[in-house]
Amino acid sequence: MAIPFIDLKAQQDRLRTEIEAGIHNVLAHGQYIMGPQVAQFEQKLAKFGDSRFALGCANGTDALLLPMMAWGIGPGDAVFCPSFTFCATAETIALMGATPVFVDMERDTYNISPSSLERAIKETISAGKLRPRCVIAVDLFGQCADYEALAPIVGEYGLKLIADSAQGFGTSLNGKQPGHWADVTTASFFPAKPLGCYGDGGAVLCDDEELTKIMASLCNHGKGSDRYDNIRIGFNSRLDTMQAAILLPKLAVFADEIERRNKIAARYIEGLKRHVLRVPTVRAGVVSTWAQFTIEVPDPEGFAKILKEDGIPTARYYPKPVHMQSAYVDYPVQGNGLPNTMACVDKVISLPMHAYLDEDTQDRIIEMAKKALG
Ligand SMILES: *Cc1c(COP(=O)(O)O)cnc(C)c1O
Repeated sequence: MAIPFIDLKAQQDRLRTEIEAGIHNVLAHGQYIMGPQVAQFEQKLAKFGDSRFALGCANGTDALLLPMMAWGIGPGDAVFCPSFTFCATAETIALMGATPVFVDMERDTYNISPSSLERAIKETISAGKLRPRCVIAVDLFGQCADYEALAPIVGEYGLKLIADSAQGFGTSLNGKQPGHWADVTTASFFPAKPLGCYGDGGAVLCDDEELTKIMASLCNHGKGSDRYDNIRIGFNSRLDTMQAAILLPKLAVFADEIERRNKIAARYIEGLKRHVLRVPTVRAGVVSTWAQFTIEVPDPEGFAKILKEDGIPTARYYPKPVHMQSAYVDYPVQGNGLPNTMACVDKVISLPMHAYLDEDTQDRIIEMAKKALG
């Protein structure tokens, strides 16, 4: 029997009654855009995220654009981000007309390296061409970045800090979520993310009321007091009512799902730690959402092929870091090379991970992985 990489069906079976009731409710009232479920979800999301405000938007990419638009980030501005991430992190910086400056990662957590960040800021200042404005840290694979180390650097240089928590929404360090340190936290509800809907969706969370108002206007064509009063150039990026209705019951079980994912990750680590080059490292005090369970092996392509024959899917995040992608090769790179990033890209591979992976299936994956490694 083939194993799904992410089993959306198992979660659906658990929540079927609530999700179908939510969908029928929206069909009955017909307010497909900005219906009551959007505000209900935003309120619950803010509470879950330990933030004063949460604002739904169309996807996790727009969620990154919104704060940068609100802050007027544009040509001549440097925005620092890791290269070992999904391309949307850097793409949004370039879309703003600003310059992404690629920063190395920590070898063990895959998250942005605070020391490489500080060097990148200094290099940018001495080159004298760009003005440092903002840092986008990514909670990669579900683990929050090292915000305790990032916050003082960001503070010293007067930069804004965005937590790209598309994969890590719900992660925490010593009980505090990224928004404790970041000006804005962004989330994606793409179906395969830990908190996913049944289409596209996203959100921004922050504690700043004025900023939230500006972002709410921006994602609604720059509207002022009513929709025919346009006070700024915005765009259309709203969270659909239908998706909000689907997300409400999913959010209600999300804390439980994060716990389940952590149990599964612990079993994987125990089963594989003596057989692979690396199992994931989670820093002390961190709770990861385990968007991905990523290991390192000598030959990931060969490993994937063997597992595939046994009906076990794998995925490679990310074989080619963003600074090596053809659309991004001309942007600045800290130190002209990112050694930690380059050291992992030809080894990383991710195993099936979701909250409903049962122990038998997990044991089968562990056994097959061990066999594939010889
Ligand atoms: C998925 C993802 C995004 C983009 O989210 P979408 O909802 O797909 O637009 C941004 N950043 C990271 C790190 C992601 O994993």
